[in-house]
Amino acid sequence: MRILLSNDDGYYAPGLAALAAALEGLGEISVFAPERNRSGASNSLTLDRPLYLRRASNGFGYVSGTPTDCVHLAVTGVLEQHPDIIVSGINFGPNMGDDTLYSGTVAAAMEGYLFGIPAIAFSQVHKGWGEIDAAARVVRAVVQQVLAQGLPAQPFLLNVNIPNRADADTLPRRVTHLGRRHASEPVIQQTNPRGEPIYWIGPAGDAREAGEGTDFHATASGCVSITPLQVDLTDHASRGDWASRLAGA
Ligand code: MN
Repeated sequence: MRILLSNDDGYYAPGLAALAAALEGLGEISVFAPERNRSGASNSLTLDRPLYLRRASNGFGYVSGTPTDCVHLAVTGVLEQHPDIIVSGINFGPNMGDDTLYSGTVAAAMEGYLFGIPAIAFSQVHKGWGEIDAAARVVRAVVQQVLAQGLPAQPFLLNVNIPNRADADTLPRRVTHLGRRHASEPVIQQTNPRGEPIYWIGPAGDAREAGEGTDFHATASGCVSITPLQVDLTDHASRGDWASRLAGA
């Protein structure tokens, strides 16, 4: 079993170390992670400069690019064989609802999924790495169960969010759908020492669709949330309407 690990918080992040330790013994593990924090990088590829792959003293590979670059490079150019599964995380903070569109953690997993490789993204619901050991036990249990059931012919993409609790590994698991967030807070304008305006992207908005069945609801109710994701963004329900409005059907 070949297991490829990545994240978006950087190769030195405690969540990645916890992930690697959690999966020890389940297969041959390779790590390709960004050289710095690339949270929010989404599915971006670096096209305007070459990428460097270097090796940290613990054996982790780190890449001068995005999470997507890391997995892309590992799968298409460096690893001799495709990994059997890709595991991303454990992220510093939640990836629920609309976060999944911006998330580098989910993107690293999604890049594998796009190459036909099953992939799972793991995140902790709160920042700060609280109870990371318990989150790591959840990771091991979920990955072990998935492997024990046999990997299906069709790849899958799972997005898992884990409450920061010491008993995380004994919490019920819920299969959920993505909730929605309110639009994020406005940018914050400041002035740099040269008197020029600078802007910081504001924090994510609060959950607005967080009812029963959503990832927000499950984690708020003390459950581990598991959302199966797909990539097709087509709005199938409105295709007929648009066809009559714009395509003369
Ligand atoms: Mn992150």
